[in-house]
Amino acid sequence: MIHLLDTDTINKIAAGEVIERPASVVKELVENAVDAGADRISVEIENGGMTIIRVSDNGSGIEKADIKKAFVKHATSKISAVEDLTGVATLGFRGEALSSIAAVAKVTLLTKTHESMSGFSYGIEAGEETGFEETGIPDGTTVVVRDLFFNTPVRKKFLKSESAEGAAAGTVMEHMALSRPDISFRFVNNGKEKLSTTGNGNLKEVIYSLYGREITGNLIDINDGNDEVKISGFIGKPAISRGNRSFENYAVNGRYIKSALVSRAAEDAYKGRVMVGKFPVFMLDLRVPPDTVDVNVHPTKLEARFSNENFIYDLLYSAVFNTLKKQVLIPKTGWDAPKKTSEPPVFAERPVQAATKAAERPVQALPAEEKPQKAEEKPLSMP
Ligand code: ADP
Ligand code: MG
Repeated sequence: MIHLLDTDTINKIAAGEVIERPASVVKELVENAVDAGADRISVEIENGGMTIIRVSDNGSGIEKADIKKAFVKHATSKISAVEDLTGVATLGFRGEALSSIAAVAKVTLLTKTHESMSGFSYGIEAGEETGFEETGIPDGTTVVVRDLFFNTPVRKKFLKSESAEGAAAGTVMEHMALSRPDISFRFVNNGKEKLSTTGNGNLKEVIYSLYGREITGNLIDINDGNDEVKISGFIGKPAISRGNRSFENYAVNGRYIKSALVSRAAEDAYKGRVMVGKFPVFMLDLRVPPDTVDVNVHPTKLEARFSNENFIYDLLYSAVFNTLKKQVLIPKTGWDAPKKTSEPPVFAERPVQAATKAAERPVQALPAEEKPQKAEEKPLSMP
């Protein structure tokens, strides 16, 4: 007998596609924060993200009338018709994340727009509303996700250890930080600060804070392209090649993706310079016309398809190849690490103007618990 599934079951199935593990929640929520124009995004998790994930941003916030809608499946403010899928400029567009997360966890959303006098707190558990009230909070959005997969025990069983899940969330944060050096990211895992970037737009500083001195001191600037396509970023000297591909990073139009094509083009350009079984280190920022790349080919949008693969391959290959060739002739230059100050680099008392970046709205102080403190001394105070 064939029957139609009920909404609850449908939502749980759909959630499984987007939300595989705590790291997927982190990815989706951070992407939403980026799309909301935030220039400071803070993520805290505990127990690998299984008990709590908290993502705070200083972005646009959500208007009162839109809060409940944000949790409806396929509800999005980012596209309105299929034509908009071509050239989508935001990281999200399917309207699946919040509804999927809320289907399999206990969620509290705190949000305030700049225009609104007060903020709102909205609770939703396993798709059921649990509360909606006015609350005094700064501009921006905080999403707290508790007890992920509490109602889908089978999925919970497939999770790895807490440390492996926490590390996967950390990797997501690294990728976000690498693809958006203009945004300040902070990641705290079990009370320990694991990542913090200034958001000053300097990619090399981000690389330094993630990978350290040896790698940063062995990078070559890459800057190439033509009228349509731009390639910038850094490629590692062959000597610092690694035993796996995890230092092969690239973002296409600001979106961190995996692409066999991009990896192959860059790796081929290194052929003969690195040993077999070694992989180059690079962080490439690719800018292509939005209508030449399709990001809607993978449930979590981690893969992308280019409309003209040969063109992209050739361009990348020659950019990397020529940059490596030129490098041989350039005398060695050192890398000066950013000067250590007594302040932590992120969420420090930066002058407000500097933090404002392109945002038109004045950036106001972060909530009290966001203030820089020693991570160890800081109990996670969750709303
Ligand atoms: P999508 O990102 O594909 O639009 P989501 O389910 O992730 O779908 O989010 C639904 C909608 O909720 C978004 O389109 C956006 O309007 C709003 N939203 C979600 N997170 C935030 C946030 N951090 N700040 C502002 N708006 C948000
Ligand atoms: Mg989204």
